[in-house]
Formats: sequence, structure tokens, C-alpha cells
Amino acid sequence: MHEMSVVSNIIKIALQTAEENNLAAVTKIRIKVGSQHHLAPDLMEYAFSFFKKDTAAAEASLEIKKVPVTMKCLRCGRTFTVNEGIYICPVCESVHVEMLTGRELIIENIEGETQ
Ligand SMILES: [Zn+2]
Repeated sequence: MHEMSVVSNIIKIALQTAEENNLAAVTKIRIKVGSQHHLAPDLMEYAFSFFKKDTAAAEASLEIKKVPVTMKCLRCGRTFTVNEGIYICPVCESVHVEMLTGRELIIENIEGETQ
């Protein structure tokens, strides 16, 4: 399960960040996930509750912001959102397109308590 390693890393980074900022507990982790990653939210939640156990993030909640896949047509310049993995320009039907968003996998911010 790809979700397990992704979430494990997110928690690792969050705990590290909390320590660097003298936070005793992490209360919320906000992440941005591009749709290109095909990460299932329910599996993310499952992995999150699994890995946060017995850490400073044990009481933390996970907020997942999904970023749609958007592309830019290199022929006509049109930008469009990709649904169902069809990477073709809806205007000129060119397949010469580049991805603008959708590859994100970042921690947006972390909330915590100092004691
Ligand atoms: Zn086009």
C-alpha cells in the first residue's frame, strides 16, 4: 500500500517539525495531495491512525486537500482539468500537453500545542 509509506513519512516530518518548534503535541496536519498520486483518502486515514499511535501526534487530525490535475495544451495554450485520466486538449485535441498541477504531495502546515 503506497498510502502507508506516504503517511509514515508525513508523520515523521510533522514530528520532526514539532520538535524543532518546541511543540509538545501535534494537533493537526494539513496536506496537499495532487490527484495524480491516486492516494485513497480512507487508506490515508487508516494509515494515519496507525502511525500516529504512541507519538506526539497521537491526538492529531489529518486534513487532506485534493489538488486536481490541470494541464496546459502546448499547441493552443488552453488550460484544462483532467478527468478520468484523459490527457487530451478539449479544444484542439492535441496530446502535446504539460501538467501544471496534480503532482503535489506537500505538508501545508502543522498545528500543535506547546504543552
Ligand atoms: Zn489545444
